[in-house]
Parts: sequence; C-alpha cells; structure tokens
Amino acid sequence: MESKILHEFEYITRDGKEAYLALFNDSLKLHISPEVYVYDLEGRPVFIYYNNVLYERGLSNEFVAKKWTSFTPPKRYLARVKDIGLKKRVVEYAHMRIKEVLSLSPPSEFTPILRKILYMNFDRLDEEGRRFYQIYKPISILPPDQYLALVLQPVEGCPYNKCSFCTFYRDRKFRFKTIDEFRKHVKYVINFVGKGILMRRKIFLADANALVTPMNMLKKYISIIYEYIPNIYISGLYSFMDYFTVRKDLDDFKWLRGMGLKMVYIGLETGDESLLKILNKPGPPEKAVEAVNLLKKAGIDVGVIVLIGAGGKKYFDRHVDNTIKILNEMYLDDRDIIYFSKLKVSESSEYYKISSKYGLGYLSDDEMEDQIRRIKDGLRHSRKPIQAIYDIDEFIY
Ligand code: SF4
Repeated sequence: MESKILHEFEYITRDGKEAYLALFNDSLKLHISPEVYVYDLEGRPVFIYYNNVLYERGLSNEFVAKKWTSFTPPKRYLARVKDIGLKKRVVEYAHMRIKEVLSLSPPSEFTPILRKILYMNFDRLDEEGRRFYQIYKPISILPPDQYLALVLQPVEGCPYNKCSFCTFYRDRKFRFKTIDEFRKHVKYVINFVGKGILMRRKIFLADANALVTPMNMLKKYISIIYEYIPNIYISGLYSFMDYFTVRKDLDDFKWLRGMGLKMVYIGLETGDESLLKILNKPGPPEKAVEAVNLLKKAGIDVGVIVLIGAGGKKYFDRHVDNTIKILNEMYLDDRDIIYFSKLKVSESSEYYKISSKYGLGYLSDDEMEDQIRRIKDGLRHSRKPIQAIYDIDEFIY
C-alpha cells in the first residue's frame, strides 16, 4: 500500500503565509513554509519543524530536536528534549496552526483528523507515553531506516550482552516471550498504535537478536503477527542479528524470506580480530562474512554496521584495513546498507576502562570522518551498497 494523497487544501494563514494541507491515506501533512507538521491518523505528532528546529516525537512521547547549523559541510545540533515545558510549547504551537486551519472551513474530509489532533493535547500525549511502557520494554535502538517501523518484541534483551562498548540491554535479562505472552503483546500494540499503523508498515522484530529464536518458535511468532496484522499493512519484516549465536541454515533463511523477512542488520563493528577482542565481541570476523553471504543467498538484504573510532588512535589503521577487507568479502550490492556508527563511550562501559588501561585514545570528529572516508574509498563492490551514518543519539521510538 503506497502512501497517496486523498485530499488537499490551500489557504493563507492569518500571518499572511501560503499554506498547504494534505490528507494522505497514512498521515496528515501541513506545510506553511518553512514550517512542516506531520501527524499520524490517530492525531499524534510525528515531525514538527518550526523556528528552524525539527522535533521528532516517538510513540513513547520522547522528543528529539535537530537543528542544522551548516549544510555544507552538514553540521547539526541534536538533543533529546528533556524539558517538558518545551515539549508542551511545541505541541501547543502546532495546535495553534491546526486550530487556525479548522476555523477556515477546510473540506469536510479533514474535520475528523483535525479534531483528533486537537484532542491529543499534551496531557493525553504524555499519558500515552506512560502507557507505552506498560506494553513495551524500552526500545533501546533501531537502525536509522527503521525509526518508523512498528516494533514487536517477541524477544527481550540480547542473548550475549557482553560487548564492552554496548550498554543497550544491560537493564534486562534475555528471554523469549511465551507464545501466549507474545499474542497478548501483539494485541496490545495494535490497540495502542491504532490507525498509526498505516505509517508504520515495516515490522521490526526486537530486541537485539530475535532471529536467535529456534525456528519452531519463530514460526509461531510470525504466524501470530500475520494473524493479527493484515498483510496489506505489512511491507516486510526486519530484525537485528548477531553472527555468533544464531544457528540457521539456508533453508531457514529462505523460509523467513518467504514470510517477508526483507532485511537483517548485523553489527560487524570491525574486521580486525584483535580489536574485536577489545570490544569483547566474539569473532572471527570471517563468521560475519559467512552470515551475510548466507542471508544474501536466501534473498535477504543486509545492513552491516561498522563502529567508527573503535580502538581509538592506536587501532586506526588496522581497523580501516581489515574492515575494508572483510566488507569486500561480503556479497553486498546496492540493496544493502553499510552503516557507519561513531563510537559513543559512556563512563560506565567496560570499553571506557579498557581504553584508559591500554591508552587507546579517542578520535576527534574530523578523525572519525577521515576513517569513514578511508573505509568508503576501499570498497570494491561492483554495485555499491548504500552508505550512511548511524547516529545512535538521534534515536527515539
Ligand atoms: S553490540 Fe549487539 S551483541 Fe553486543 S551486547 Fe550489544 S546488542 Fe548484544
């Protein structure tokens, strides 16, 4: 189901600006240049751009604010909005724009959704944010192309959970949901998200490694998804996967592809085995090559994540050279993505201690950019994979 415009309305705002309102089959968009407001069909704000700042709101009622301070080279300010007063002001400013258009008698098809948006005032959005955490364990991270997916959590946590740089799932024990629990979870999620599902047609199987689930159980999880969510609302299934705990063969992956698994995201981090030891991530990196090539053979696309800055100054060259080597051994093409994720170190992480102990040093932002450039320059795939930045700070759900 493609996103398409159902109704349009053009008008002049009270402050004399040209405005364009469009009702899509999955969302509502209001453009009052340069302001942009995007809502899902339950009246929740998804993107609000005004005052030169882009605010993105997640289902958990978290907001992130982005401001571009330069476009060439692109530089931006990014922050999680902690200030409740600011969140409220953003929602209320947008409501002022919605009230205005409603008072100008737009075509009647717009009335229900505009009223719904106004009904979802800040207190209701806030209350919804609290309800979110009754349904979900916190969604710690998603790949950047999955921020608008519908997340389902058949599995909680990470079965390994020991990488020295990663603290995403330290707050929970790894476990599979029972079939009954998962069924309930899916029902709650569908009820919670309502018509918002129309904007979220990718289904992301969380948490860190849902594909570690044994096939008989995974088949049950997937059949529950299709039982409760009509095919028309599902553009594909997606998941993270590691390359050292998952035991699946080509037939398993082909079956999963047949059931809609379109892309799998794998944290390679580095192609350098000694650096993997510092990251406390099991290797060898050749296993990542095997896993990626098996997925590709099954017709599943892959997102490979490289940890830029890993090993600091000390490992700079080895990280670059061996990562290029390993990436070039993967049968990647222009349907795949290589993500460059810049290392962010929290002082509570194991990596922080190791880095201090061995004097690894940290890369400046320019050095990180240089590392990305050098890896990109070394790629030799005939149909180049997409290459993009993976900024974990911009994630909200
Ligand atoms: S990086 Fe991946 S495998 Fe390692 S602990 Fe984090 S989620 Fe688990």
